[in-house]
Amino acid sequence: MKRLLLILALLCCSVSAAPAASNKQLAPAGAFTGAPPEFTHFSVDELQRGFLALAFGSDLRIGARPRGIRRFDHPIVARIVHGGSVDRAAAMTRIVEEYARKVPNLRLTVAGADAPSIDMEIRLIDEKNFKSALQAAFGAAVTKEFVARTDPQCMTSVKSSSEGEILRSISFIIVDKGDRIFLDCAYHELLHAFGLSNHDQRNSWTTLNQRRMVGYLSVYDLALLTALYDPRIKPGMTPVQAKALLPAVLRDGLTP
Ligand SMILES: [Zn+2]
Repeated sequence: MKRLLLILALLCCSVSAAPAASNKQLAPAGAFTGAPPEFTHFSVDELQRGFLALAFGSDLRIGARPRGIRRFDHPIVARIVHGGSVDRAAAMTRIVEEYARKVPNLRLTVAGADAPSIDMEIRLIDEKNFKSALQAAFGAAVTKEFVARTDPQCMTSVKSSSEGEILRSISFIIVDKGDRIFLDCAYHELLHAFGLSNHDQRNSWTTLNQRRMVGYLSVYDLALLTALYDPRIKPGMTPVQAKALLPAVLRDGLTP
């Protein structure tokens, strides 16, 4: 009888303890063929580790070092600039709308053609025009340094104030190299544009690991973005300030 009780107690504890990454599921509908499955439950520690790695720092910084968290602090108006030899405008619009729907605090809308001001520009281009498009937008010197440092396939530039508020972002998304590259770029670059600026090659759950191709908005990245736009997390917050709030913010965002 004693042994039975002990076993029951252990089962009870393993169920009630906060599980590490678990509940693996297939990639959602709409993902490219062969897209990786994903874990859909994470502990607060696993989410916090990713948030601290991805919300601070970036591959190429120009100008003053931002003090901490960078994110938009006002409603975001996005414009999709059609281009390239494959028409991906409708697919890109659906992706922007998915972010808007799943993270309401982004206050994200797709602009009509006559919108007076744009916060986020998404340019759809062919791969062969990638380098020249970067040069036209940022100049030859910045493009050369960026390409040399990161060998990018797609790219996002984020301009932010010294207080950490993102003022404007521009993303370049390749449309003519198949669904895998388009979807991977589109979901990945939008995360950068919203303020998850960094990469983490040791994190096997995020789209912002450059060794992975994901091509959909994963549960993990959705949780990080939701935390970034939680009203308690402010532009300019340092890692120490964010760390004090993150357990509560992340716990509130976890599905029960
Ligand atoms: Zn990236």
